[in-house]
Parts: sequence; structure tokens; C-alpha cells
Amino acid sequence: MKVCKFGGSSMADASSVKRVVDIIGADEERKYVVASAPGKRFPSDVKITDALYGYFLKKNDFCDIEERFTQIADELNVSFDIRSALDGVKRAIDIGTSDFAASRGEYLSALLLAKKLGAEFVDSADCIRFDEKGELMLEKSKSLIAKRLDGVKLAVIPGFYGASEDGKIKTFSRGGSDITGAIVASAVKADIYENWTDVDGFLSADPKIVNSPKVIDALSYKELRELAYMGANVLHPDAIFPVRSMKIPINIKNTFNPFFKGTMIVPDSRVRRTKRVVTGVAGRTGVTLINIEKEMMNREIGFGRRVLSVFEEEGISFEHIPSGIDTLSIVICDEYLSGKRSKIVAKLKAVTNADKIEVHEGLSLIATVGHNMASRQGTAATLFSALAQKHINVRMIDLGSSELNIIIGVDTFDYEKAINAIYQAFVE
Ligand code: ASP
Repeated sequence: MKVCKFGGSSMADASSVKRVVDIIGADEERKYVVASAPGKRFPSDVKITDALYGYFLKKNDFCDIEERFTQIADELNVSFDIRSALDGVKRAIDIGTSDFAASRGEYLSALLLAKKLGAEFVDSADCIRFDEKGELMLEKSKSLIAKRLDGVKLAVIPGFYGASEDGKIKTFSRGGSDITGAIVASAVKADIYENWTDVDGFLSADPKIVNSPKVIDALSYKELRELAYMGANVLHPDAIFPVRSMKIPINIKNTFNPFFKGTMIVPDSRVRRTKRVVTGVAGRTGVTLINIEKEMMNREIGFGRRVLSVFEEEGISFEHIPSGIDTLSIVICDEYLSGKRSKIVAKLKAVTNADKIEVHEGLSLIATVGHNMASRQGTAATLFSALAQKHINVRMIDLGSSELNIIIGVDTFDYEKAINAIYQAFVE
């Protein structure tokens, strides 16, 4: 049995919704469907969720939202009074919260899809639970969903939101329908979680940097986490956890190319059996390296703790800490450092009494990810020769203990060249 989640572009207008209906009809295992709010129909279009936030903040009026939904309903030719539903939604938003306003996109979209499919509409407010702190109650939600869907042949569930015990609507962060889909899949113990979007799958590199990168046919949850952390995004990062613990594979599929196999996200052991060494390359710009040097640092007990306490006090998380005998470097994202740079350097000087502290700005991190690197000789040699041939200076190296990835730091002006060099050396 399959749980399918359809993203905003799949729900953007009536013709895409008709594709969705065909996809669901083509496989009777597709029993539980999670729907997003209508997304963009063309690049300059506005997503319904943004329009709803805008209406709540009085930045735009309600008519665009009304027009989009009535057009979808009319073209789908469903027996549902969308106009009075919209009326009710508008009145409720006027006295509701921002989360409530944002959630109505998914609510109406799922209602329409349910009508078109002749499926049962199951409101997430009744079965996705948040506690009083606003945290998802995963186990409670799973049991509510399992109970609610028991015996239901075909159901549509709106993505992106749930409610607290007292019925107050709460949304996930943006893109959160992926999480709803994952929770439903794990609640009903689905064989597969299909995540339908508008791309052929997870790409092995950023298409803005590498020309037509290959679609990854299979990757592990861990590889996905590494690549997503570095900026590759197709799936909400929090969508992995509910399905990973149940070993349910996620299949990223394209609504606009439904026969293409897409990308399978599977348990680690399954990917290790493939021949491929590198699964993908991803990176992020806007990184700073702080180098601390002090003679006999290696003998000074508590040195690392004092350094890290400075970042803890400032509420900054670090990315990496490569170290030498008398040197320790901290890699930090610029967004966390802004406005705090000199204060941090002064504090580091005070707690370490270092001989030298240097700050290198304008760096980028690149992760080369693949389970099989651990068991293959020569991977690092191939990587660094490829970079050397392109005259790229490597400023930092971090080989994670899992040997799942090699992370390097390069000057940002070399960033795109480096990604292309690594991609050509391994993936092409
Ligand atoms: N509609 C929400 C958003 O635009 C959630 C989603 O589509 O996953 O972020």
C-alpha cells in the first residue's frame, strides 16, 4: 500500500489536479493521498500559501485566492459549493491566527481533490497533534491517523498542518506537507511513501552550477541528510525521520513525467550494495573559518571546551572543527556571525590566550557524499587531483568519521569550478 503526497506544483491548477487524479487511479495501492496547497503555475506566480499569509497581514486582498480556487473547482466540475466554502474560510481567517490562515490552502485543496476522486476527506486537525509547546506529538499523531484511516479505502488528507489538543491549528515550517506525508506513511505502515513533485528526482549536483546533472536513482536516508544539509532540497529535512525509523522507502516522482522511475530513498544497507562510489555533490557558500594557534595546545586540557563555550554563550552552532597539533579551526556560517565577529574574536583571545587568531571570510563548503567511499581506495586521491588540475586551493578538509562524505572548504570564487571538477571526476 502506498501513501502519496502531491506538492504545490502538482495541485497548482485544474489540469495538474487531473494528472494527479489519473496517477492515483492508475494504481490501486495508492490509498492515502496528502495534498499541498496550489503552488506556482509559472515562475512569477504566487503560491496560495503566500497569498494567505499576505491576506492575513492585510498585504493583499482575498479575491486572488477566491479566483484560483473557484477556477480549479469549476474546471474540475466537482459537486462542491466552493464559493460558500471560501466565504466561510475568509470569515474564519478574519478572526483567526496566521497559522490558521496559512493552513486553509491545504484544507481547500484536499477537499477539492477528495471530491474529484470520490474519496473520504480526513482533516489533519483531527489526527496530527501538537503539544502546548508547538512540538509535533509523533506517536500520538500516528495512532490517531491509524485509527481514523482504519477501513477507509481511499482518503485525502491536507498537508502542512495539525492542531493542538484544544483544536488550535498549527502549521509545520514551509514545505511541511512532506512531513505530513511521512507521518501518514509511517502511521499506516505503508510499503512506500511516494512524494510527487515537479522534478524527475534528486539531482546529483545543483543544476544551477552543473550542466544537466544526473538524477540519483537511489540514495540512503543518511546520504539524503548530508546532501540536504548542504543545500540540495527536494524534500523537507524533517520528513525523513518518521519513515526512516520504519524503514519505509521514499520515492521522489514527477507528476509531469509519471512513468520515470524517480529517486528512491532507502535504508543505508541497500545503497552500500551498489557499485557507485559517489552519490552526489552539494555545497554552501557564506562560510567563515576562524583559526586559533597556540604553542603546546595539545597538552592544554580544556582548551577545546573553552573555545566552544564562547560559541555556546553566543548561541552559535558550528559546522566543523578541523584541528592540528597546535591549531584548532572553527567553521561557522556567516549568518550566525554577523555583527558578532569582533566580540567573538576578543572572547576567544581572553579564554585561550592564543598566540594567533585569524579569521578567513569568503569560504564555501563542498560535500562529496557516498556510502561506498569508506570501502574504496583512491577516492580522496581522485577528488584532490581533480581539484589540483583546476588549480583550486583547498583551505580545509574534514573527513567525517562515518566516511560517508569528504567535506572541503574552498574560496568562494573557486566554488562553482570545484563542484564541476568533482562532479566530472566521479559522477559523469
Ligand atoms: N503550502 C505550504 C508551503 O507552501 C506547505 C507545502 O506545500 O508543503 O510551504
